Order: sequence, then structure tokens, then C-alpha cells
Amino acid sequence: MPKSIRRYLIAGNWKMNKTASEGIDLVREIHQSVGSQSDVTVVVCPPFTALESCGKALEGSTIHVGGQNMYPENEGAFTGEISPVMLRSLFCNFVILGHSERREYFAETDAFINSKVLAALESSLKPILCVGERLEEREADQTKDVVKTQLEGGLADVSADQAENVVVAYEPVWAIGTGKTATPEMAQEVHHFIRKWLSGRFGDTAAAKIRILYGGSMKPGNAQDLLSQEDIDGGLIGGASLQAKSFIELVTIARALS
Ligand code: PEP
Repeated sequence: MPKSIRRYLIAGNWKMNKTASEGIDLVREIHQSVGSQSDVTVVVCPPFTALESCGKALEGSTIHVGGQNMYPENEGAFTGEISPVMLRSLFCNFVILGHSERREYFAETDAFINSKVLAALESSLKPILCVGERLEEREADQTKDVVKTQLEGGLADVSADQAENVVVAYEPVWAIGTGKTATPEMAQEVHHFIRKWLSGRFGDTAAAKIRILYGGSMKPGNAQDLLSQEDIDGGLIGGASLQAKSFIELVTIARALS
């Protein structure tokens, strides 16, 4: 099936950056430039503390807000955590899950990430499931094994119907925040591998609809080549999502390719 059945998705992962008022300034600028286009799905993922103000500032635009994480229960004694219902109540419709920083600093396992993916889908949140190898794993030629294990674990018990609402982000850990980007060919090879795995697991029709984003130092200077690849359907953007100019440029590049 042609790539054109998938709309490009550009998602900004702000990580632990921007206060609520700084977030409003950033999304206002983004809104002014690309807030009424619908060629590209645009998502901003502010910290929890800025979700409500950013969501309000984006009202009436086509831009979505998403969480950067969540706990897989709707309520209860889970001090410091945020539930899918809470994200939905702030009009989130996406949530980043299994980011490598959560895997590394908060010891998140594939099984725990899977419980979040299932809880997100139950609550009509689209999970952006992050997978990717560390440098030593790439050097040991284990990239595909690592990604396969993360996909198998993270997407366990997801049905083919649900799978169409899943977004996968391939983020080689060695490329995140380092300025090192996978070459378009290196990224495409893994994206193609992911698409094939998705076809085997969910069938060709569902796999053709699932968006696979690239993440890892994507910026305006390298986005065109990455986004032109057959199985790269957008970007999960860290550093370059913190300035309106670079984020808007990334959306513009994706629109031009649409
Ligand atoms: C990320 O954190 O998901 C990411 C891709 O960061 P950066 O763009 O800064 O490498």
C-alpha cells in the first residue's frame, strides 16, 4: 500500500522544559503558523504542569496535545502519578510511552510499558510507543533483536483493530539529544523491519496504517531526507521542538512532502 495512506505526524516532546507560561508563548506561535492546517498531524507534549494552559491556548486549532507518560490505572493510591482519565480530561489524545529516558532512569520494563499501552488504548489515547537500541547494542549488531523484543513486549495483547491507533517511534538511544542522527538509510532499514514485524503481528492492512516516527536529533537540516524514506511517517522531536521556528519548519517540511 502506498505511503500516502498515512498522514505525516510531527510530535514535540518537551521533556522537563517550559513552565506553563513559557509553554503558552511557544504554542501560540506554533498555532499562528500551522494551527489551521490539516495535511500533517501536529502534537505537542508539554510537561503535565503546562498541559491545561497549552490545551486552552490551542483551542480551535488542529494541533493536538499529548502527555509524556502516564500510570496504567484510572485512579488510586499512586502518589505522584497521572492517569489516562486525567490526561483525557485535559483533552489529550496522544501519550508518549516507553521513552528511553523512562526506561533508563525509571527502570521501566516492557511489561510495565505494555500495561500503559493497553490502558491508553482503553481510554482512547493514542500511545506513541518508543523503541530503539543503545549504542553498544548497535555495535554488537543487536538492533533488530532489541527492537523486536520491545515491540513484542510493548504491544502484547493489542488487537489488530486497536493497533491502528498505535504510533511507533523508532529512537536509537545514541541519537537522542546527542546531535548524532541515524542516516536516512540506517533509519529506513529499521523502520522497514518494524513495518514487517507489524504486518506479521497485525496483518498488512493494519500495518500499512500504523505511523512509524523517527526520533533522534531530527531538525530542519536533516528532516527532508529522513521524512522522504518509504517507512518514515514523521518525527518525535525533542530539542528542536522547544523553539517555535524549528518546530514550525519541521511541520512545513512534512507538509511539502504530503
Ligand atoms: C526525544 O527525546 O524523543 C528526542 C528525539 O530528542 P532529540 O530530538 O533532542 O534527540
